[in-house]
Amino acid sequence: MAALQHLKHCYSTCIGTSRLHTSSHACANKEHFKMLVLGGGSGGIAMSARMKRKIGAENVAVVEPSETHYYQPMWTLVGAGAKSLASSGRPTASVMPSGVKWVKSRVQEINPDTNTVRTDNGIEISYEYLIVALGLQLHYEKIKGLPEGFEHPKIGSNYSVETVEKTWKALQNFKEGNAVFSFPNTPVKCAGAPQKIMYLTDAFLRKTGKRTKANIIYNTSLPVIFGVKKYADSLWEIVQRRDIQVNLRQNLIEVRADKQEAVFENLDNPDETRVFEYDLLHVTPPMGPNSVIKGSSLADEAGWLDVNKETLQHVKYPNVFGIGDCTNVPTSKTAAAVAAQSAILNRTITKVLKNEKPDKKYDGYTSCPLVTSYNTVVLAEFDFNGQPLETFPIDQSKERRIMYHMKADLMPHIYWHGLLKGLWGGPGPYRKIMHLGMK
Ligand SMILES: Cc1cc2nc3c(=O)[nH]c(=O)nc-3n(C[C@H](O)[C@H](O)[C@H](O)COP(=O)(O)OP(=O)(O)OC[C@H]3O[C@@H](n4cnc5c(N)ncnc54)[C@H](O)[C@@H]3O)c2cc1C
Repeated sequence: MAALQHLKHCYSTCIGTSRLHTSSHACANKEHFKMLVLGGGSGGIAMSARMKRKIGAENVAVVEPSETHYYQPMWTLVGAGAKSLASSGRPTASVMPSGVKWVKSRVQEINPDTNTVRTDNGIEISYEYLIVALGLQLHYEKIKGLPEGFEHPKIGSNYSVETVEKTWKALQNFKEGNAVFSFPNTPVKCAGAPQKIMYLTDAFLRKTGKRTKANIIYNTSLPVIFGVKKYADSLWEIVQRRDIQVNLRQNLIEVRADKQEAVFENLDNPDETRVFEYDLLHVTPPMGPNSVIKGSSLADEAGWLDVNKETLQHVKYPNVFGIGDCTNVPTSKTAAAVAAQSAILNRTITKVLKNEKPDKKYDGYTSCPLVTSYNTVVLAEFDFNGQPLETFPIDQSKERRIMYHMKADLMPHIYWHGLLKGLWGGPGPYRKIMHLGMK
């Protein structure tokens, strides 16, 4: 209805009505698309490629301000000097499906009651269907002394394109003392990444003969080393074998970068703080929902996009869908989860377009390749219930070289040529084959 009103309004006010299209049209500062995708990250590009095939490129638009699209999982290896930052990024124009309209601006406001979105350059876009893929937000500023502390050496963070190379610099310049790694007291994307760089640091310092002069310390807000017991058991064995100190329920609250000090609070006893001197500090920032979603009626109480966890359809607005880190789907936020979700969401939208009930259900599949050195990985794969959902018929909780090659060489290829082209919906079908149809 709102879309129709908008169409009428635009028809009467636009000069050059020949620009009107059955499903997408534009006037001075108004546009309309049948399928509007917010965010051109992993989920947004994957879904726009799938929607192009379903309803035609001219009916799909993506709102995304960034000129460069990054494969973020690569940053673990960039921070450890195993890959270059340049190899993790490609121009957004090159990943945008051809013919799909790229609206190069930032969404400022979503109004699901009028089926409209407003961008920061004053354009109002109306839609019939909306896919929200806005990711999550990093909050370095919630730690006292950051982000300005990153101007000092000895500190880095693999979570941002601006700070990931600082990790590698700090690692190379490490001389002796404490190498400290943090995990915040919020939901995060890729919950394994804060400790992957710790194992790589351990491996690098062994390789360069500095390990005996280093204390490696992992201070995590969580009460466990990893959320899934099978993999946690393996990781405890690895940290013990490698003489890595793990302190649970410790939350980074302040960085005094000029003095190379990091202050942690004890979450079980908030009056108790501990100061760690460091020669290397890796910060995983607090994270939270995208502020545009948080400020709209699409959000749940905590600010995440409120979707049905099995169909990915919004719980209140049936023409709105969500994918990836921005949603309240209760699984670990990863690109692997995005892949599995993209196949489900594709099916959900197919059904909704036909006025039928969504029938395919997401099982929470997510994956975390826990890099434990420059040539080994523990490949965690699990579902909503934290139950392992392993692709290969071998014990994946063991460190394996083959899994490292999968992480470093095969997965980027699958990302650029499979997921982003809307052709990769996760390893579900292969898992079935590998397990002879038993899983
Ligand atoms: C260090 C690190 C290691 C990781 N390791 C792994 C791994 O090993 N395996 C794995 O599967 N995953 C890993 N991940 C997680 C993975 O990268 C994310 O889960 C995935 O990219 C989420 O996709 P998304 O589309 O939800 O969000 P994103 O890919 O972050 O995309 C969100 C997009 O929305 C855009 N956006 C934001 N706000 C606005 C706005 N207002 N208007 C318009 N556009 C906007 C952003 O510019 C961005 O392009 C890792 C992440 C990091 C940082």
